[in-house]
Amino acid sequence: MERVGIMGGTFDPVHYGHLVTAEEARCEFRLEKVIFVPAGQPPHKTTSQISDPKHRYAMTRMAITTNPYFQISSLEMERGGISYAIDTIRQVTGLYPSAKIYFITGADAVLEILNWKNVEELLSLCYFIAATRPGYRLEGLKENIFYMEVPALAISSSEIRRRVREGKPIKYLLPEAVEDYINKHGLYRH
Ligand code: ATP
Ligand code: MG
Repeated sequence: MERVGIMGGTFDPVHYGHLVTAEEARCEFRLEKVIFVPAGQPPHKTTSQISDPKHRYAMTRMAITTNPYFQISSLEMERGGISYAIDTIRQVTGLYPSAKIYFITGADAVLEILNWKNVEELLSLCYFIAATRPGYRLEGLKENIFYMEVPALAISSSEIRRRVREGKPIKYLLPEAVEDYINKHGLYRH
């Protein structure tokens, strides 16, 4: 049975935390591919707080080019409106009716997901892979949620945005092509 990973996120910008997590999940769960799905409009962020979808899509596309198992999908961006994971998972299960779908998230995001209203349907449609740092365990989670330790990566998009704003280096936190794109388009400077 085919096994497909979905890596959702705002990717504002995409960084090595996302890429390492997706690759670790691919190998540990023997996924045929991982599809990066940049959110159109994330539920708890307003449009003024996030970069234009075309920038986030372009950066994500650049970041994955060197990995033949990584793909990108614009389905959340094309859908319009707020990007709910349940809609994305329904759409993906429609596209891959015979595949096992693994939704890859950071442990923080899994805790949020468990508060969503469609959680039972969500857990019936796909598996979740919750990435945690070594030594960090979540307690009391449900069936269909797997844990995966990724090398400690204290990288986040918000930290990268803050560093750009403060004129600090972001080199080695994300792929060089993404750094170049940020500089070229003057992102996160305000
Ligand atoms: P922000 O700081 O703006 O919240 P972020 O770095 O968390 O951004 P998102 O696009 O919100 O990036 O995250 C997409 C997914 O990647 C989420 O499931 C998140 O938990 C996970 N993730 C983000 N950073 C890391 C990291 N360093 N290691 C593992 N997973 C991560
Ligand atoms: Mg986040």
